[in-house]
Amino acid sequence: MSEELLKLTCKELRDKIAGGAVKSVDAASAVFDRIEEVDGTVGAFISTFKERALETAAAVDEKIARGEAVGALAGVPIAVKDNMCVSFGKTTCGSRILEGFEAPYNAGVIEKLIAADAVIVGKCNMDEFAMGSSTENSGLKKTVNPWNTDCVPGGSSGGSAAAMAGDMCFASLGSDTGGSIRQPASFCGVTGLKPTYGRVSRYGLVAYGSSLDQIGPFTKDITDTALMMNVISGRDERDSTSVGEDMAPVPDYLANIDTPIEGLTIAVVPQFNEGADGDVQAALNAALDVYKSLGAEIIEIEMPHFDYAIATYYVVATAEASSNLARYDGVHYGHRTADAKDYIEVYSKSREEAFGMEVKRRIMLGTYVLSSGYYDAYYLKALKVRNLIRSDFTKAFEKADCLMMPVSPSTAFKVGEKTTDPLQMYLADIYTISANLAGVPGISIPAGFDLDGLPIGLQILAENFAEEKIMRVARMFEKQTDFRLASPQL
Ligand code: GLN
Repeated sequence: MSEELLKLTCKELRDKIAGGAVKSVDAASAVFDRIEEVDGTVGAFISTFKERALETAAAVDEKIARGEAVGALAGVPIAVKDNMCVSFGKTTCGSRILEGFEAPYNAGVIEKLIAADAVIVGKCNMDEFAMGSSTENSGLKKTVNPWNTDCVPGGSSGGSAAAMAGDMCFASLGSDTGGSIRQPASFCGVTGLKPTYGRVSRYGLVAYGSSLDQIGPFTKDITDTALMMNVISGRDERDSTSVGEDMAPVPDYLANIDTPIEGLTIAVVPQFNEGADGDVQAALNAALDVYKSLGAEIIEIEMPHFDYAIATYYVVATAEASSNLARYDGVHYGHRTADAKDYIEVYSKSREEAFGMEVKRRIMLGTYVLSSGYYDAYYLKALKVRNLIRSDFTKAFEKADCLMMPVSPSTAFKVGEKTTDPLQMYLADIYTISANLAGVPGISIPAGFDLDGLPIGLQILAENFAEEKIMRVARMFEKQTDFRLASPQL
């Protein structure tokens, strides 16, 4: 019974709960039993809120028994990445510097989940401050890939993706600064959407690269992507970069997902596809064949500035990070050194003791590119290239409805394989980083398996605020294939 329950989508579970066929308390209990059973191996969660979750679930069941209206996620167990503030537990950001930190307020997305009657299960592991592509940079614990526990789950939202693949929640939230939703979704065989910059409030999301960060959902299928986006999207006065209804109204994402796009034109960049591993290329080509059989036209285009995306990203992201992370001073938040003789030492020793290697590397790099002698040569130059990358997308979307490409050059790599060479880790983000520089939305959907049985994702990108179109395009593929239904053996 509980195994069957755990296989339901959010939409199915919500409808059963609202109709009285399933109790929310039973769904939550099934999730916590599952966490107990497998999370010792997977390591997806940094903290869980069992007591609170069961209380919320019981309250939802009572509302339903009284015949009251319930929200769009009534009684559905949801997990969140540990960089979104909650007022009822810890928010660590995967860092020892915030290990004991309890936020005094809920992030905008958390408020929205609560308002939709969701049951928040726990907080998921991540690379420290979302810096990484494998979750190996977490200062707190290891997370492995449920499909093969010798492999990484991807990152930085690796915990949120692994919790989904391990059936430890029905949907989860991640954040994507350079690929951190799409890449772990691809590595773990689930669906992950990075919305347009500004679509979802960043209020209460611990800042990494503020002009790149965006929260989005991990789900089992596109129906749930739409459901989650209905709940979390929209303007928030407390995030000045969140976009208003006047500029880009939030549609009902569920309304049209089953309507295929007539005369769909898909752009591909041949050299991108050739740059990926054989199995990844094969999955992409097979996906394009599915679209062709549905009447889509495939065109080849160029994205001439993509070659500079990684370099540009690592200037912009580290510059912003060095400024955002200056607030961890041993006074305002988290860890404070026990051994300082003056204020400067409080600052330097607290940071020295509690930040991990990768975070220190990025603070140094960011400080360097912003320093007066180098600002023009690096930071300003990067901003200019960022504009050129943006214009590559604009031109592409003048010719095609969407762009398709791999999510990552490879499937999930082995634990430890890239930790000694940060540059190798950075290069793995080649296909995802440009979308963040341009702000455009992108999704990863399950599109196959490699010879070792590891999942492969297909990436679909479209112009700003075209999430609905992306979902419709993705849904066309999802209806023809069943990759999303396979589960790992844990
Ligand atoms: N892997 C990229 C980085 O390390 C992207 C991370 C992210 O999207 N948060 O910065």
